[in-house]
Amino acid sequence: MTRYQDNTLYIYNSLSGKKEVFTPINPGKVGMYVCGPTVYNYVHLGNCRTFISFDLAFRYLKHLGYQVRYVRNITDVGHMVDDADEGEDKIAKKARLEQIEPMEVAQKYTIYFHNILKQLNNLPPSIEPTATGHIIEQIKIIQDIIDNGYGYEVNGSVYFDIESFRKNHDYGILSGRNVDDMMSNTRNLDGQSDKKNPLDFALWKKAEPQHIMRWPSPWGDGFPGWHLECTAMSTKYLGKHFDIHGGGMDLKFPHHECEIAQSEAACNEVPVNYWMHANMLTLNGKKMSKSTGNNILPEELFSGNNDILSKAYSPSVVRFFILQAHYRSILDFSDEAISAAEKGYERLFESLDILDNLEATASSTFDIQAWTNKCYDAMNDDFNSPILIANLFEAVKFINAYKEGKAGLTPSDLDAFKQTIKAFVFDVLGLSEVTGCENDNETLDNVMQILINLRNEARANKDFQLSDQIRNQLAKLGIEIKDGKDGTTYSL
Ligand code: AMP
Ligand code: ZN
Repeated sequence: MTRYQDNTLYIYNSLSGKKEVFTPINPGKVGMYVCGPTVYNYVHLGNCRTFISFDLAFRYLKHLGYQVRYVRNITDVGHMVDDADEGEDKIAKKARLEQIEPMEVAQKYTIYFHNILKQLNNLPPSIEPTATGHIIEQIKIIQDIIDNGYGYEVNGSVYFDIESFRKNHDYGILSGRNVDDMMSNTRNLDGQSDKKNPLDFALWKKAEPQHIMRWPSPWGDGFPGWHLECTAMSTKYLGKHFDIHGGGMDLKFPHHECEIAQSEAACNEVPVNYWMHANMLTLNGKKMSKSTGNNILPEELFSGNNDILSKAYSPSVVRFFILQAHYRSILDFSDEAISAAEKGYERLFESLDILDNLEATASSTFDIQAWTNKCYDAMNDDFNSPILIANLFEAVKFINAYKEGKAGLTPSDLDAFKQTIKAFVFDVLGLSEVTGCENDNETLDNVMQILINLRNEARANKDFQLSDQIRNQLAKLGIEIKDGKDGTTYSL
C-alpha cells in the first residue's frame, strides 16, 4: 500500500466551493499547474506566500507517494500594467525605464525569484516554461478558438468573443460572476475599442511600431494576451484535462476564468478538476502588492533592513510564519507576528535536538499511532498546516516531559516517532535548521559600518578618489551605499 492509498485527501475546490475528495485522473500521478510570477520586479513576501502554499501541496502530494508533474510558468510577456488588455506591458515598461532589453528585465527578476525561493526552501517545479518560449503554441490555440467560432480579428488584434461563447458555455463559472451584471456595469466607449463587447478579452494584440516585444503571426506582428500563456503551457505539458490548477486568490477573475473559457473554446474540454486559490498576505491590513509599494521583500527580512523590522529573520522562520496560517486564510504581516513565530520555531527545533538524545524506555506513555494519524488528518484536510503545527507542539510538550523522565517510548515507538516528526517538519513543511544567518547579518553590519566610517573619513579629508573607490568596489559586490539626511546606509 502506498501512503496515498491509506489517506483520503480533501482539497477545497474553488470551482464547487466545497472540500472534495482528491482523485487524480491517472492513478498514482498528479498534474499540477501554478501561475508563476510576472518577472518585472522583485518578488515580495506576498508572492512568496502563494508559492510556499503550493510548495506545501507539492511536497505533501509527493510525500503521499504520488508522482507529481508540477508546472509553474514564468510570465515574461503579455501582462499589462492595468491587468486588463490596454496600457503598456509590465516588462516592456520596466525595460524602457531601466533602458535595457525586455529580456534583460525578465532574466534579472527570474534569477532573483529563483534565489529567494531556494532560500525559502521551495522545491523547484518539474517544468518551468516561459510565455515567450511558447508563442507558437499560443498562436495555434488562437487559431483553434477562431476556427471554433469563439474569436475574431480586428485590425491585427484577436479577441475572445464572450457572447458567442456563452451561447453554449458558462462564463463566470469559477468566480461566480454574472455576465449580465458585468455587462451592465461596463460601458464600451464608442470608437475607443475594437472589441465587439467590453467583456471580450485579447488573445493577440497588434504591436505598434514602437513596441519591442513582437512576433509574427497570421494576423501580423504582435504579442499574446496574458491569459493565453497559461492555457498554452498547461495544455502542452499536462494535457487538455489535468488535476490541479493553482494561483493566488486575485487571479480567480479574470485570469483563471479566461483560462477556462479559452480551453473550452479551443479544446472543447473542461481543463481542470480542482482549482486551488491561496489567500493574500497583507501589510497594514492591505494586500501586499508590487505596484502600490505596500510590500516587504524577503531579502529585507533576511537582513533586517527595513524600518518596520526589529531584527533579521532567517528564511526558515519566514517559511514557518507563513505555514502557521492556513493557505486559504488571510495573513497579516507584522514584526510582532513573525517574532512570535520565531519563538515557536525555536522551541520546535530545540525539542528536535532533545529528541535525538532520548533513550528508549520499557513502555510507551504516548500513543504514537494516534498522534501520527492526527498529523495526517490535518494535512488530508485541505493541507491544514496550522493544525499540523499544533500537533507538532503537542509532540514538543511530550518530548520535554520525556527529557524530565516523566514520559517514555519503547525502542520501536521511539524510532517511529522520530521518523514521523522529522518527515513532517523537514519533508512536508520544508523547514530547516537556522544556519547562523543572523550572526552572518550581524557580522556584515559590523564590517559595513567600518567601511562606511572609513569612507566618511576619506570624504571629510576630501580624498574623493578613495571614497569613490570604496563605493564602486562595494557596488561590484552588489552592495549599494546610500547617503541620506540621517547618515549613510547600505543595501544588498
Ligand atoms: P504576479 O507576479 O503579480 O503575477 O503574482 C505572482 C503570484 O503571487 C500570483 O499567484 C498572485 O496571485 C500572488 N500574489 C500577489 N500578491 C499577493 C499577496 N499579497 N499575497 C499572496 N499572494 C500574492
Ligand atoms: Zn496563469
